[in-house]
Amino acid sequence: MDAAEFRKHGYQLIDWLADYWEGIESRPILPGVEPGDIRSRMPDRAPEQPELFADIMADLDRIVMPGITHWQSPGWFAFFPANSSPPAVLGELAAAGLGVQGMLWATSPACTEVESQVMDWLVDLMGLPQDWKTTGPGGGVIQGTASEATHLAVVIARHVKSRQVAADEMVAYTSAQAHSSVEKGARVAGIGHLRLVETDETQAMSPAALAHAVAADRAGGLMPAFVGSTVGTTGTTAVDPVRAIGEIARTEGMWHHVDAAFSGTAMICPEFRHYQDGLELVDSYVFNPHKWMFTNFDCSATYFADRRPLIDALSITPPYLRNQATEAGEVIDYRDWQVPLGRRFRALKLWFVLRSYGAEGIRAKVREDIRLARWLTERVEAHPSLDMVAPTTFSLVSFRHSGSDEETSRLAEGINASGWAYVTASVLDNRPFIRVSIGQTNTAARHVHRLWELIERLSKEHA
Ligand SMILES: *Cc1c(COP(=O)(O)O)cnc(C)c1O
Repeated sequence: MDAAEFRKHGYQLIDWLADYWEGIESRPILPGVEPGDIRSRMPDRAPEQPELFADIMADLDRIVMPGITHWQSPGWFAFFPANSSPPAVLGELAAAGLGVQGMLWATSPACTEVESQVMDWLVDLMGLPQDWKTTGPGGGVIQGTASEATHLAVVIARHVKSRQVAADEMVAYTSAQAHSSVEKGARVAGIGHLRLVETDETQAMSPAALAHAVAADRAGGLMPAFVGSTVGTTGTTAVDPVRAIGEIARTEGMWHHVDAAFSGTAMICPEFRHYQDGLELVDSYVFNPHKWMFTNFDCSATYFADRRPLIDALSITPPYLRNQATEAGEVIDYRDWQVPLGRRFRALKLWFVLRSYGAEGIRAKVREDIRLARWLTERVEAHPSLDMVAPTTFSLVSFRHSGSDEETSRLAEGINASGWAYVTASVLDNRPFIRVSIGQTNTAARHVHRLWELIERLSKEHA
């Protein structure tokens, strides 16, 4: 494909995406395909001869689209959003075209410096501790996912403690409501013991239960090494008491990691920052601009209060990666801040987003989604046959039918059968409940109002 053809097909593809976004509301969110349907439309072998780009584009519609789940639909209330937006897509395109590999500062200085600057911007925008800037003792880096950031935090915790004890004598703690990435991280890092600490009636970790578990493990000859707090759990956006957990972590010499994957975006609004009070007692932190901040997957903003243990755990320099800038210690080499070596220019899409929306644009989105979630919560609370199962802290509304579990499941199925709205059915205390997660880039009041009308109608039918 030469430059002229690239221009032509490039414009066509952008038109195709713009048409897709414009018409997305008329598509059923879930594809009606069976396992193997999509694959069966593809030839058994890769082509020997070059094909026309027009044919490839046509197969996007013919083969790919029938198997697409429309995450970018404004009726998306399932899981958490995985938002995209026009400026993010353009940033992603620019990054792909530049095609740089930013493992070291020296392998493309802009890739590192734009990332450091944007991550430092976010420290101020989100009200994070100033020490977390790359110009201070800590610093921020973009990881692929919150899970990778959490796995990395556990690996550092193990490295720090490995001077004292073997990994099989170490203990990692997190709440019973924490994301499975903490358990996976402990497994990957070979940490001997994982404790899922009890939660209170709001599904937040109980610091007393944590202190108790730590004392019991110490008495049993084990070494507490890591504790993971969550600001906005995946199940119900419950908020762990970061300060109280941080104080225990300090006293016990544990690494304290905070997972704010979804809810972290809300901290761009000062009125929500009290939910993560105590960040000065945190060693590492992650939130996902790829969930609620208009930036398409993958983009997880990861921070360290002190970058030395991170680099100490990960830095290995073979001769072919030695260079003057690194030796002089003047630059950040982000390969030492992540498990893989190679890295894409992911900061570009985040930079495009922050500039295109401005902090005010992002704050307006967060506030509107939370307003809509509160609006929906009031209706659920006032409804005779619906019960809230957890407080609406951010923009997730968690409720169930006040009748049987079957009625809750039928209600979720009824919503999803509408085609235009999609919610997740989850489980709390062994009983099903419905999660309505508000936050897709294009979700507006009318979509939430329409969802409520549907819920009301279905609850009447099932009453
Ligand atoms: C979504 C979520 C994760 C996982 O995020 P990835 O970026 O997909 O790894 C982790 N923790 C919490 C609290 C989440 O909500």
